[in-house]
Amino acid sequence: MDSTATFLEGLRPAGSKRSSKRDLIVNVFLRQEGHITADTLVELIRREDQRISRATIYRTLQWMVDAGIARKVDFGEGRFRFEHSYRHPRHFHLICKTCSRSFEFLSSDIEALIEEVSTARNFAPRQSVLQIHGTCEACRTGRAPAPAEGGVTELLFARDALRVAIATERSGRDFYSRAARLTKDPRGRKVFEKLAEEEKEHLGTLEARYAELLRQDPDLEARPAFLFFKGAANGLFAAGAEQLSKGMTDREALMIGIKCERGSHRFFKRYGEKFEDSEGKQIFLEFADEERAHLELLIREYRGLVERQRRRGRKR
Ligand SMILES: [Zn+2]
Ligand SMILES: [Zn+2]
Repeated sequence: MDSTATFLEGLRPAGSKRSSKRDLIVNVFLRQEGHITADTLVELIRREDQRISRATIYRTLQWMVDAGIARKVDFGEGRFRFEHSYRHPRHFHLICKTCSRSFEFLSSDIEALIEEVSTARNFAPRQSVLQIHGTCEACRTGRAPAPAEGGVTELLFARDALRVAIATERSGRDFYSRAARLTKDPRGRKVFEKLAEEEKEHLGTLEARYAELLRQDPDLEARPAFLFFKGAANGLFAAGAEQLSKGMTDREALMIGIKCERGSHRFFKRYGEKFEDSEGKQIFLEFADEERAHLELLIREYRGLVERQRRRGRKR
């Protein structure tokens, strides 16, 4: 059974019987990328099976929306479009009014803003829609469009998630190497060295995964950005490394490490949990776990250092 079939199996209420018509409609729908109208789906289904009625297709489409397999989107054209949500995180859209193509993106700043406003207004947000209407690059310049994102959103998402994780590992490695050079406490130095080593190792794993992804799609690097995670793009430890260069005590250095790891853990966990099941989600959640392990190690070390300093102070 392929993963789509497993996914569908999980949606079927226990004991309910399979409907081959419904399965066909759902399978055809899941194979489509981008945003299709109900009429397009009817055409596609009819190509496979003439006997399925328009009413059945419409009903199944509504069932997919209710079951969370499909999302209904309104691009202001006077009819709805549908996109599947299988391994496809919620996102925002750029919509070209000339060629009617739509492009997808996600932004952590917009997400954060929505949360901030909702919290301030005691509002429980359920869904947010952001659409940017205008003219795409191809229509504006007459140049051939950049490799489309159709069919590859999942790869784009994984690519960008990996880029964020790689930037974080790089900044983490720099932070810990710098901290190891600066720290005076020999034990603290060992911990920083160990962490720098680990970040380097993880970095290697992530880069191998990135290279693997590029093998799946040679155009992948040239495709437009999907994730706009500005705050994390330069690495979540960059600010910490900057702080270190101003000079500080061993305790302060550990504390900055703790803050960076905590921020990084929260960042990856928060978005990882938000995303629909996908490789991007997996990357974020695995990364969140690694950061938590580092965080715990640093907290133990910090406590140990405080204790040692206290004892030393007493002896004097
Ligand atoms: Zn266009
Ligand atoms: Zn979309």
